[in-house]
Amino acid sequence: MDCIFCKIAKGEIPCKKAYEDDRVLAFYDLDPQAPAHILLIPKEHIVSAWEITPENSAVVGHIFEVAAKLARELHLEGGFRLVNNCGEDGGQTVQHLHVHLLGGRSMQWPPG
Ligand code: AMP
Ligand code: ZN
Repeated sequence: MDCIFCKIAKGEIPCKKAYEDDRVLAFYDLDPQAPAHILLIPKEHIVSAWEITPENSAVVGHIFEVAAKLARELHLEGGFRLVNNCGEDGGQTVQHLHVHLLGGRSMQWPPG
């Protein structure tokens, strides 16, 4: 399967790691949209939030737990944003579930 985030999870493509355990990998986005911009992915290939089911949803809670730990380590006391883009209308460009952790600047709402 030709999935860039699976390759990053397996160490076949390098990344700047922020956190790793047996289920989740967090790494810095190549094209940062904020002073802190980290991607959190399940190591298991899940295409998008559309594919979340009772069988695979536990990793989503774990991703949020890791995001909170990273936000504390990065001293994002002022706040931060967790973003999941899903599907074409959601602006998803990599077809492996990921959550963006964005922080270090003030965010606008609603997003474009
Ligand atoms: P999305 O548009 O939500 O699918 O986000 C995909 C994100 O992956 C974008 O912010 C890209 O900059 C980022 N990205 C793509 N390839 C890599 C890579 N090899 N290493 C780090 N980030 C990447
Ligand atoms: Zn994948």
